[in-house]
Amino acid sequence: MADTGTTGQTRSFEADVARLLHLMVHSVYSDKDVFLRELVSNAADACEKLRFEAIAAPTLLNEGGEPAITLTIDAGARTLTVEDNGIGMSEAEMAESLGTIARSGTRAFMDRITEKGEASENRLIGQFGVGFYSAFMVADRVEVVSRRAGSDTPARWSSDGLGTYEVGAADLEGSPLRGTRVILHLKEDAGAYLEAHTLERTVRSQSGHVPVPILLREAPDAEPKRIADGAALWTKSKSEVSSDEYADFYRTLAGGFDEPALTLHYRAEGLHEYSVLAFVPGAKPFDLFDPDRAGRLKLYVRRVFITDEAEILPRYLRFVRGLVDSADLPLNVSREMIQESRVLAAIRKGVSNRVLSELAKLSENEPERYLSVWENFGAVLKEGLYEDEARRDALLGLSRFRTTTSGAEWRSLKEIVAAFRENQDAIYYATGPDAERLAASPQLEGFRARGLEVLLLTDQVDSFWAAGGVEFEGKPFRSVTQGLADLGTVPLAEGQEPPAEAAPEVGDFVAFLKATLGDAVSDVRASERLTTSAVCLVAPEHGIDRQLERLLASAGRLGAAGSKPILEINPRHDLVQRLAKLGDGEAHLREDAAHLLLDEARIADGEPPENPRAFSERLGRVLGRALN
Ligand code: ADP
Ligand code: MG
Repeated sequence: MADTGTTGQTRSFEADVARLLHLMVHSVYSDKDVFLRELVSNAADACEKLRFEAIAAPTLLNEGGEPAITLTIDAGARTLTVEDNGIGMSEAEMAESLGTIARSGTRAFMDRITEKGEASENRLIGQFGVGFYSAFMVADRVEVVSRRAGSDTPARWSSDGLGTYEVGAADLEGSPLRGTRVILHLKEDAGAYLEAHTLERTVRSQSGHVPVPILLREAPDAEPKRIADGAALWTKSKSEVSSDEYADFYRTLAGGFDEPALTLHYRAEGLHEYSVLAFVPGAKPFDLFDPDRAGRLKLYVRRVFITDEAEILPRYLRFVRGLVDSADLPLNVSREMIQESRVLAAIRKGVSNRVLSELAKLSENEPERYLSVWENFGAVLKEGLYEDEARRDALLGLSRFRTTTSGAEWRSLKEIVAAFRENQDAIYYATGPDAERLAASPQLEGFRARGLEVLLLTDQVDSFWAAGGVEFEGKPFRSVTQGLADLGTVPLAEGQEPPAEAAPEVGDFVAFLKATLGDAVSDVRASERLTTSAVCLVAPEHGIDRQLERLLASAGRLGAAGSKPILEINPRHDLVQRLAKLGDGEAHLREDAAHLLLDEARIADGEPPENPRAFSERLGRVLGRALN
């Protein structure tokens, strides 16, 4: 293919692009085939955009033929050309799309590949919206000639990937009638992409199910041969599609190389007619917790791609990839109309319920597989526990937990409730960032002594839903670090010694602590919560859980809601009993001990002492006295 260039202007890539290109050019990647998938995917997107724009402006289709993607080999010139007759790009669009990086994930991607230096990471390129640049993995020069549909001013772009690119107008003659031609001048070691069978195999396996036909020309003047039919996979019936075909389609869609953990393919009939092909990924995408990450179900109307911003699934199902193809929506539905459409409201409801019911089925039929879904996406699904009251019960049924008695196993709430102890009336939980430390916290001692199973909740989202008045089968969730632990009625676990009687002086000691600690705590009380520790802190009954309080405080969102904790003491603890019995001559020691007990409780919660300097002075005095 000859250059279609006239005048051009040389520009520098944005710094991020230059860095990315440097990585593409200099890293030794094992899996260079990815570039082809990315270019074909861009070409298919361009054809789908054309179909969409042609709904309002049918004349756009006048010239340039039916949407298709053509690969052309020119062995003499050592070029591979990927051409589409889709929407095309103007000169300004080229400079914008092929010189900058729009998406926020780019930096994260680069940090990952440089940090890990792992060849496998390049497989993820498609997820990061930087697919075009992967052309420089196989080419030392890339030329793009493009003509926006309906325009008669084609443009060209070219670069060797080394910091600058040229962009300018192109001659009309020799430019595509419509769409984009990407010419790759293949590197020395990329000669395999001049072989027809390599291309055919790669395209079939990576992109065989894009909804646009793909043609291959073995030489510039050869007849094109059809290597993929462009039939939309989702319009076929389930029995006609193999699991390999589903997996290929999923990978094209998600830009990954994993196997889907769950495939949903069905056709809804009745009041509304639509097809759904959706996947739960087998691996966690890098941007799962990116606040900008939106749902990824595409909306089609009778096979025409409309938008991927229809928000078909709720946010907490944002890991599901796939599409919905509606037979009822008008083709010329505007993107604004979509938000208010009744048809779409019905689709949203139907698809969301179906995803949850299929997950429930998976959890019953293939528990192991379901647990891998839970491990990847449980933290996201749990957002639904407070965002989606209507589906809360379904989500609680899907939830799995690690508990004080489960070890490495995951437990369902059904199992947890079935294992309730005599007189137990709540599902107990502890929240904190680290399961091991949680399990060791003093607040759990009394629960352990009674054989009560406590959920160890370590995801940030847990503090929010668990505090929201959630119930499972009529059992409320109750934080072990909040309110009174009414454990007296639950019998001790087998082998536990009944505790000794508390000394009568403890009552006075509690009053003394309250007077001495003043405003630092909202109350001091003796409790059943502790067995081996002397003290711990809990939140007041109607306040917020201490972990949630910490999260809100670190997000600067606590405001005036912050409350003083309650100091609970173990009335049977040896140290407490002896302190309680100290005579009046030991007033100083008693006072130091009061403050030290509070600081001890704070430290056990992973917090610093209230006043580090006063803490070390007191500790010094008490130690000095012990040595005398
Ligand atoms: P992504 O496809 O995720 O947006 P890419 O790096 O693959 O990221 O492409 C960047 C942009 O360049 C695309 O969003 C599109 O606007 C433009 N582009 C790339 N290839 C084509 C093409 N064949 N036709 C039209 N536009 C294209
Ligand atoms: Mg792309």
